[in-house]
Amino acid sequence: TSVMSGEVVIKRLDETVVNRIAAGEVIQRPANAVKEMIENCLDAGSTCITVSLKSGGLKLLQISDNGHGIRKEDMEIVCERFTTSKLKEFDDLKSIATFGFRGEALASISHVAHLTITTRTKDSKCAYKASYLDSKLKGAVRPTAGNIGTQITVEDLFYNVPTRRKAFKSASEEHQKIADVMTRYALHNSGKSFTLRKMDQDVSAGVSVRTQLGSTHVTNIGTLFGSNVGKEVIQVDHFDPQLHLKINGYVTNANCSIKRFLFLLFINNRLVECTVLKKALDSLYQTYLPKGGHPFVYLSLEMPANNLDVNVHPTKHEVHFLHEGTVVESVEKQVEAALLSCDSSRTFYMQKLLPTANTETTQKPTTTSKDKPQRVYDHQLVRTDSKLQKLDAFLTNTRQEMEKTTTYDPVSHDPKSHDPKSHDSMSQDPKSHDSMSHDPKSHDSMSHDRKSHDPKSHDPMSHDPKSHDSKSHDPKSHDSKSLTAAGLPRRRQIQLTSVLQLSEEVKEKSHKELCKVLHDHTFVGCVEPELALIQHETKLHLVNTGNLSEELFYQTLLKDFGNFAIYRLSESAPIYELAMLGLNLEESGWTPADGSKENLANYIVNFLGGKAEMLNDYFCIDITKEGHISGIPMLLKGYSPPLEGLPLFVMRLATEVDWEEEKACFNSVCREIARFYSLKNNLTNAETFSDVKSVANDNEWLPWKRMVEHTVMKSLRDLKVPTSMVDNGTFLQLANLPDLYKVFERC
Ligand code: ADP
Ligand code: MG
Repeated sequence: TSVMSGEVVIKRLDETVVNRIAAGEVIQRPANAVKEMIENCLDAGSTCITVSLKSGGLKLLQISDNGHGIRKEDMEIVCERFTTSKLKEFDDLKSIATFGFRGEALASISHVAHLTITTRTKDSKCAYKASYLDSKLKGAVRPTAGNIGTQITVEDLFYNVPTRRKAFKSASEEHQKIADVMTRYALHNSGKSFTLRKMDQDVSAGVSVRTQLGSTHVTNIGTLFGSNVGKEVIQVDHFDPQLHLKINGYVTNANCSIKRFLFLLFINNRLVECTVLKKALDSLYQTYLPKGGHPFVYLSLEMPANNLDVNVHPTKHEVHFLHEGTVVESVEKQVEAALLSCDSSRTFYMQKLLPTANTETTQKPTTTSKDKPQRVYDHQLVRTDSKLQKLDAFLTNTRQEMEKTTTYDPVSHDPKSHDPKSHDSMSQDPKSHDSMSHDPKSHDSMSHDRKSHDPKSHDPMSHDPKSHDSKSHDPKSHDSKSLTAAGLPRRRQIQLTSVLQLSEEVKEKSHKELCKVLHDHTFVGCVEPELALIQHETKLHLVNTGNLSEELFYQTLLKDFGNFAIYRLSESAPIYELAMLGLNLEESGWTPADGSKENLANYIVNFLGGKAEMLNDYFCIDITKEGHISGIPMLLKGYSPPLEGLPLFVMRLATEVDWEEEKACFNSVCREIARFYSLKNNLTNAETFSDVKSVANDNEWLPWKRMVEHTVMKSLRDLKVPTSMVDNGTFLQLANLPDLYKVFERC
């Protein structure tokens, strides 16, 4: 073609060169070819797929299947570009169930390699064999012996693209890449058999991937990713009707932590990558795994193809879809629900900052994150939708600065900084609330299994160790009590009428509109630990997170009654010392008329010692024989109570709780624990945060903010908001968008 002036002549490139370049884009390395061809095998209904490689597929790449084969009359055109039995019109691109079809794989391969196909359909008496070059049949289609199915042989990949060929550093790297692809497809298509064979003439030859016909996902996870992973996976299985999204898969629980995040994602049965989802899941697990630990996550999503960004380029594995934020959130929620459904199987260790037997006052807490500030990934800063602007975006200078902060460290409050001013944020409404239902699986808690508390045969108030089944039947106590032999949690069935009644009351007394506000809110920002801004529809609310978190913990206590994981204190705290500290606080209300503080403290030690059995069994509060508190319940993953509240808690537990009547007792114990756990403003006063400030200015995104946003606010979505919160200042509507418009109209 010449340009108008005729001065510059642009020559059309030789067509085979064009094709070769195009092919090189589709097939960038042997693993791409394998992926395309595996998908072809699966499309052909195969149940056995074998791949054999020489030199990582560069010399030989052969894939055999037992699918329906290719008809002889189609063999001539099967390698032409845009020849496909799967796609008839362009519109089909949008509606076709998978999105790898465009009849380009075989054509591309034939441009950069020697391609031979041997195939036989079930109606054919023999197999046929043909070779291809640059999309065209080379020679004739010849009859040959062969089984039903197809065998595709690719030899000397990139023989005619020397630059590309030179770019491959090592055959073993290519082999590994193919093994990765095979492993993933093998798992996703569990039940079908996959074999990867290395045919090089050296010691490394042999089978490197193999799954059996009829195998399950769980067995295959063990076979392919190691038995340590296989043992710890839990299933995710959910349909989100709103998004028409099917979520299936297996993820490791919090007991399993691996060095590298293994993320396998299939969307509509095609192996893809989705960075947004990957980051979201990795960050979700940060709360559950020890530092530096990562999970194994295998997910298969199915969604209407028209919600997918139809990816017309087969090498671009990265996908995008409509409602990405919502989809990611939905998936995250399901994975978290699965995780939480088994989280009672772990013991968490907390570091001490409590008075110990020999030091009356406090010791400076050791903080793990002080020396090595934990890295905060930017995706952790944004939970819902990356497009949403939050308050902190306007307060913080740069993202880099944020990354310098340490994460919220639950152990780092200095007890000295405890602010003894009374905490009036609680509403002692015994009537409200119930169990939240964000975790679908947790509902089995009432119907699940082994140990049952029968209200008739067992008086929960008189905690006789002999008659107490949880102790007598289960030789191992707390730390392992909820573990089955397989390492999976077993939930205890708690059927105490009183607890059920309390839960029922929570449900009855919940305020529909406010529940909705919390459930659908968009987080705007934290004002202080006890105050946050949220948006719901057009309204901006100032909410009291102190009140809300207290209610959250109360409802959690009822919901998971007797089923908590435990935070073990690194050094147990003597109740006597705690009680003394508590009595010295103004809000204890102590007067000389109450008797000497020492006597009272001794009384508290003995009294709580007498309740130890029950506190341990129902609330996971561990009190040792020596009268020390050594463990407290984990009510919310990633959240530990401000421990400086422990002295007051101990005091109130002994003096404010109704220990006579069962229901009143459980109610008030739950209330006291919730009060102790709730968010307090003095979180910010903690000394440890001063070194955070030193790395940046005061506008720094403090760790507590992250903790409030990511841990507390997230769980609050499912809170049953008690009606008492309508007018007690917990919710304050600050602005309503339509009203603001009216203001502007007047101007
Ligand atoms: P696409 O998969 O997009 O249709 P390909 O170039 O990958 O395009 O394959 C072209 C056609 O060759 C397919 O549509 C299918 O009819 C046929 N084909 C390829 N591989 C196989 C196989 N293993 N078994 C049966 N048919 C196959
Ligand atoms: Mg294909």
